[in-house]
Amino acid sequence: DDATRLITELTAIVEDFPKPGITFRDLTPVFADGPALRAVADALVAPWVGKIDAIAGVEARGFLLAAAAAYSVGLGVLVVRKPGKLPRETISESYDLEYGSTSLEVQPADFPAGTRVLVIDDILATGGTLAASSRLIERAGWQVAGISVVLELDALNGRAALPGRDIHSLQRV
Ligand code: IMP
Repeated sequence: DDATRLITELTAIVEDFPKPGITFRDLTPVFADGPALRAVADALVAPWVGKIDAIAGVEARGFLLAAAAAYSVGLGVLVVRKPGKLPRETISESYDLEYGSTSLEVQPADFPAGTRVLVIDDILATGGTLAASSRLIERAGWQVAGISVVLELDALNGRAALPGRDIHSLQRV
């Protein structure tokens, strides 16, 4: 389809970034292209139209995809933020990075209990980020209806970190 073709055409592959041995996939040319951004945002939400109440975006690239997808279907955005950014009562989930750990936060007061949430991010790599985001959403009293990503890096087996989750990726590489 259109979204998959545009992702293939436009994604920039950068060797040795952010460090030697890593192949980085840069989606900024997809975000820069109007028809591609629209096709991608629509395709991320398409399987869940009518089955979700809100769309969560993971800071920062997930924000722009979640906002575009939410706007296209008339829903609101739930922001999953890096620590220390949200001013009211938050809950937080830690997760491991390659070196060290970090956390993500949400404000439970922003949506009612039971809200059905589609979680969006740009890339599914090891799955740590989306697993922490999903745990956070459930701890806040909401439901994870599904997960949508633009790219899934098969070699990192992110699905193993997300057992039982309904995951939709526009392209697997
Ligand atoms: P994970 O937690 O290992 O699944 O990593 C996912 C996070 O790292 C996502 O928020 C991605 O934006 C980012 N990420 C991992 N690999 C890449 C890449 O090749 N290009 C851009 N972002 C990446």
